[in-house]
Amino acid sequence: MNTSTSQQLFEKAQNYIPGGVNSPVRAFRAVGGNPIFIKSAKGPYIYDEDGNEYIELINSWGPMILGHAHELIQKAVSDAIQHSFSFGAPTRREVEIAELIVSMVPSIEKVRMVNSGTEATMSAIRVARGYTGRDKIIKFEGCYHGHGDSFLIAAGSGAVTFGTPDSPGVTKGVANDTLTAPYNDLEAVQQLVDANKGQIAALILEPVVGNMGCVLPKEGFLEGLRRICDEEGIVLILDEVMTGFRLSKGGAQERFGITPDLTTLGKIIGGGMPVGAYGGKAEIMNYVSPAGPVYQAGTLSGNPIAMAAGYTMLTYLNEHPEVYTQLENAGNKLANGFRASMEKLGLNYTLNQIGSMYTLFFTPDAVTDFPSAKSSDLPLFGKYFHAMLNRGIYMGPSQFEAMFLSIALTDAHLERIIAANEEALIEITA
Ligand SMILES: *Cc1c(COP(=O)(O)O)cnc(C)c1O
Repeated sequence: MNTSTSQQLFEKAQNYIPGGVNSPVRAFRAVGGNPIFIKSAKGPYIYDEDGNEYIELINSWGPMILGHAHELIQKAVSDAIQHSFSFGAPTRREVEIAELIVSMVPSIEKVRMVNSGTEATMSAIRVARGYTGRDKIIKFEGCYHGHGDSFLIAAGSGAVTFGTPDSPGVTKGVANDTLTAPYNDLEAVQQLVDANKGQIAALILEPVVGNMGCVLPKEGFLEGLRRICDEEGIVLILDEVMTGFRLSKGGAQERFGITPDLTTLGKIIGGGMPVGAYGGKAEIMNYVSPAGPVYQAGTLSGNPIAMAAGYTMLTYLNEHPEVYTQLENAGNKLANGFRASMEKLGLNYTLNQIGSMYTLFFTPDAVTDFPSAKSSDLPLFGKYFHAMLNRGIYMGPSQFEAMFLSIALTDAHLERIIAANEEALIEITA
């Protein structure tokens, strides 16, 4: 595989951009080698600057759920740009997308649009603090909620990939207000709550984790958290930036039948444009300025081009429930294929999968939390990653990431991925 153009670009990039990338995981440091620079993508395929073609399993970390450059979204964006790019004033489309989100996610009664998932989670905990008059929050080890100061404590995704789950630059005061518990451990949460009576504003989590790799909630975990939050007057925030509009039309909360007080959204909601949102109970959201005293604003929030892409994406998902059936089938087919290969090869790695998200962990142990995710053989993952890349499969370059399927993947693509996986496993365990 020739990647000389990518290599040249990366060398130049490092002169001008910290680490050569605008978001850390892209740099390939966890798997070795240089990142490939992307030129274009269409449907299930992505193309690099050297003309190599890959099957997409990152899909911009989720937003490309319909495949790349979907015609409807292309048209919506090109229609929108005829009317200028930003007004900094209210528009019809913002009302329409808010109404649509409220109809698709029943726990959301009011919603505020922002520009990223990071902004959504930062704003959600500020509102929760304003609403409860309390300072502390609880998050889970290995969950990632964007790069807001309060969340860079035992953080997942790139933060753990690069060994900085607790980032320098976060003040002790902020860090002290973030309490952490192991994922799937209700008892630990209860102990934290008991030890900090009346001080906890919010509990935030990924209802299905994507950011320590794919980790599912144990039976009763989400319900237990809901109960604890109800008993203690804690705002339950489900961070559905990844899972929203992916694990079902109404996200993980619909799939698991759990009603949060607030929800944070991103990724799919913008159809590939930079968008996030937070919303929930009207009683809480009415604390947000100018309805209430908690300040949160954005010059480009509700940007008309982004809203056109997002509205078209959500409308499509809302009107096409078969998307979710197709994604379930694709995820299950892939998982069955991977498991069959491992059985054939006598390998016992752990595959976590739900719907169109999965991670193959290079450990024989069940992965249910951060320590078990970290017990994976990371050098082996690095070899696997490159073995897949060499076979034309574009995956997240870290063990601590989930892969995201799109409906552009046909059975033939899925079979190619299954075959590549089997060959890669043979190669790396030889
Ligand atoms: C990606 C992600 C974020 C951060 O969103 P950005 O748009 O990257 O700021 C927050 N929470 C979760 C669960 C995510 O997956």
